[in-house]
Amino acid sequence: MKDAKLTAYRKKRDFALTSEPKGESHAQKQKRSIFVIQKHAATHLHYDFRLEIGNILKSWAIPKGPSLNPQEKRLAIETEDHPLEYKDFEGIIPEGQYGGGTVLIWDRGTYESYPNGLSLEKDYQKGNLDITLEGEKLKGRYVIRRIRNGEKPQWLLIKVKDEYADLQRDITKDNKSILSGKTLKEINPEAQHD
Ligand code: MN
Repeated sequence: MKDAKLTAYRKKRDFALTSEPKGESHAQKQKRSIFVIQKHAATHLHYDFRLEIGNILKSWAIPKGPSLNPQEKRLAIETEDHPLEYKDFEGIIPEGQYGGGTVLIWDRGTYESYPNGLSLEKDYQKGNLDITLEGEKLKGRYVIRRIRNGEKPQWLLIKVKDEYADLQRDITKDNKSILSGKTLKEINPEAQHD
């Protein structure tokens, strides 16, 4: 059975041409929800931040990427829901296809709501997620708040002050895939990357 939530995702892509997942498999529900951040060199470089909510990946494009500094608010533009299997996608999207460019799995792990036990789906609807990440690069508490509705709702991703907050360190300097250890350039040597 196809998930109707993925209609927008499928409409944008020609699966005869791109190796991105179609979103047809029935991924086994794990105990903890997963998150993934994919660094994506398309027309503009951005980071795709995805949270498992309700058996799909809710997705945001963050032009500057995440920050460890609680004083920095990072704009996160909501994009179409992605299938759960997208958490494993790293590689090249052919030119001319939607999002054509290079994708690297920048971080991945599990997360839970803070305090645990609250409904992620409800918080998402309200536009106010408060979560604790357990990734390889990102850890600790973050909030993601909707600031503008519309066709492409805008949210802000903000680090909450805790033991993992850091005012100095630019985490995006760490530009390797947590899956392959490769940079964008190493995944796609022929493309122009920043
Ligand atoms: Mn993207």
